[in-house]
Amino acid sequence: MSFFTYRKGEMHAEGVALKTIAAQVGTPFYCYSAGALRAAMREFVDGMKGMNASVCYAMKANSNLAVIKLFGDMGAGADIVSVGEMRRALAAGIPAERIVYSGVGKKASELMAALEAGVGQVNVESSAELETLNAVAGQLGVKADITIRVNPDVDAKTHAKITTGKKGNKFGIDIDLARAAFAEAGKLRNLRVVGIAMHIGSQLEKLGPYRAAIRRVGKLIAQLRTDGHKIDRFDIGGGLGIVYKEEKPPSIADFLALVKKETEGLGCELTFEPGRRLVGEAGVLVGEVILVKPGVSKTFVIVDAAMNDLIRPTLYEAWHDILPVRQPRPDAATIRCDIVGPICESGDYLAQNRDLAPLSAGDLVMIRSAGAYGAVMASSYNSRPLAPEVMVDGTRFAVTRPRPSIEEMISAERLPSWMEPAKA
Ligand SMILES: *Cc1c(COP(=O)(O)O)cnc(C)c1O
Repeated sequence: MSFFTYRKGEMHAEGVALKTIAAQVGTPFYCYSAGALRAAMREFVDGMKGMNASVCYAMKANSNLAVIKLFGDMGAGADIVSVGEMRRALAAGIPAERIVYSGVGKKASELMAALEAGVGQVNVESSAELETLNAVAGQLGVKADITIRVNPDVDAKTHAKITTGKKGNKFGIDIDLARAAFAEAGKLRNLRVVGIAMHIGSQLEKLGPYRAAIRRVGKLIAQLRTDGHKIDRFDIGGGLGIVYKEEKPPSIADFLALVKKETEGLGCELTFEPGRRLVGEAGVLVGEVILVKPGVSKTFVIVDAAMNDLIRPTLYEAWHDILPVRQPRPDAATIRCDIVGPICESGDYLAQNRDLAPLSAGDLVMIRSAGAYGAVMASSYNSRPLAPEVMVDGTRFAVTRPRPSIEEMISAERLPSWMEPAKA
């Protein structure tokens, strides 16, 4: 079921017309459906029944406090990749022991902050990190619970920029070097090895790569146990894909059933780190048409949402569905157009070569499946304020991150003391 539908000719997020939000908060803005977020998390919760498993939401996909809190209230922990994310997770009420700290390059100061806060698990990705973490834990007089993230060398069959589990990616420790890394970890007094982790990529559209990776890691777990390590946890990572265009990603239930089957007999507690799958389809970006510029080969529809708001089309060649907020007549003719932003870059487009019913200045458009890696990757390039984020729940909506004013943006900066003050 979609939480974004036309009602009486107007696109709604649940029970709220997007044009109502636009009138109140201005454009562009991100809009998240609480119902859609809950439905996705519920699928995980239901599918994990009878499994010794939990979800640590990979909050880099969308780190809006309200989003994190919604998942936290449903029992999720958090998968973090920075101390900033840790602080957000804690601010959203996620208990420290339900936080997993991932990432390929953690600084000693960051590991220190994480151990001081009491995060539940650090997923270590290199022997250098083992040494640093051991030293930091020693300084604090604590023992750090760790897993080692291995790179199982499987092809996730996804976009090159978001594949992470193949030899030659910077992530994890090569599966062939894993036994040595575990041996090293076993000797470090301030570390407690609790398990093993993997994360093979993002926007996976098939279960095969998960099956292959779990089998490889499963074999390794057996070896590691023979070597005398306690491997009680298996962190499966995230990566389950969503629908942008015509993808048919596996259902969450099928994914969980596969993992259950493949991990049966391993006797490990499982952790899932979904990001995109929990938030991607639950969010949209709404912009307003500034002007329409007809060209010889195609028409440019210039909107007030741009690559600084949603970089996925230009960064990953991502395809996002674009719908007019006012429903076009079913028999409306279409024109071939590019939907572009006002930024001075040819890479500033949201969609190319789309056949859309004619749009004109002032019309609103909705960019679909923008809930993941949208707002979090936004910048203020061209001094464009970050787009606000709005959450809809039934017939209510709230601005969960307001648009900063230009004054706020400027006042965050300082002139060097040797310069004359600017004459206002
Ligand atoms: C990015 C990331 C995830 C989440 O990936 P999705 O594709 O958004 O599910 C999970 N775990 C780790 C370690 C990550 O880096």
